Amino acid sequence: MDQDMEEEYGNVWRQRAYLQHNIVVTPSGSGQRLRPLGGALVRMWFGELGGGNLQDSSRPDPMLVWIMGHSYVVWAALRAAVRPDGRQLGLSRETVTLRWIGKRGMVWKEWLPEFHRFVRLDRVPEIVVIHLGGNDLAKRSCRELIKDIKFDILRFWVMFPKVLLVWSDIIPRKRWRGARSHEGVNRARIKINRAISRFMVRNGALAVRHVDLESGQGAYWRADGVHLNAVGHGTHVYLMSCPCGLMYVGETTMEVRQRISKHKSTIRTNLTDLPIPKHFSECRHSVNQLRFRVIDGVPTLRRGGDRNLILKQKELRWISVLGTLQPKGLNLDYNLQICTT
Ligand SMILES: [Zn+2]
Repeated sequence: MDQDMEEEYGNVWRQRAYLQHNIVVTPSGSGQRLRPLGGALVRMWFGELGGGNLQDSSRPDPMLVWIMGHSYVVWAALRAAVRPDGRQLGLSRETVTLRWIGKRGMVWKEWLPEFHRFVRLDRVPEIVVIHLGGNDLAKRSCRELIKDIKFDILRFWVMFPKVLLVWSDIIPRKRWRGARSHEGVNRARIKINRAISRFMVRNGALAVRHVDLESGQGAYWRADGVHLNAVGHGTHVYLMSCPCGLMYVGETTMEVRQRISKHKSTIRTNLTDLPIPKHFSECRHSVNQLRFRVIDGVPTLRRGGDRNLILKQKELRWISVLGTLQPKGLNLDYNLQICTT
């Protein structure tokens, strides 16, 4: 794997690491809505956000964002740190300071005490992303946990009314430690996510879903069935861009890096009847200037179902959402896309 790809895979991992939303909460006039998550992510990845949208001229200091949670946050921080500036997720230090406050095994009741502890060490942040609850699920009654979470958040708002809270949905696991019934825990998880998301949004805060992981299936987990691996494989929708900002959306059922290698080789061999090599040749871009990101995927479907069809639908949706058809982008007409590898 060349370095470029490794770097890109770092990004892919971060996408899978559920921490992308810490950027997306940009209050750039979008109110408190997080609906265009994908689009916002894409903008971030392609650098438009690297300051611009987060810039607030009235704010002299960088905005402070805390990402608090259990081991997922710890792992994500470790991964992100591999890159120079990685823990900033590519955001300019002048506009945003990101802090990763992860504690292995952290349960809900530790959240407020940890928050207070870090406020004393630092200052009150503008935004707090909470990724917690997963370690409580198998141990406590669902109703009690919802009550506690709501109560603590209300208490928090009384003390820190200006802090924007972001609830990050509890992600399914393949195995819940200490659980009597896997199904039961999963039902509780869904119930809690729903209740807390609604509660947050009603109160002007944010909630983030992790749609592609909601089935609890697929290749995103490590062997322990609890933690997430670097990246799942296959059935992905990816986005590529050239230096002048034209984009291309594609889907593949092979590993993304293999698929991208194929694209690169069509550029190297100058197959100018294809849109991407043609553009690269016309604009004298080098193959190293090609950038790509995984933007969507289809997890293994529980009841069979046509994974390829869903993948195709997702690809088309992204082509339309991002407007990547020629001449605005590098995608040819929809029909020509169907026979990819
Ligand atoms: Zn170009």
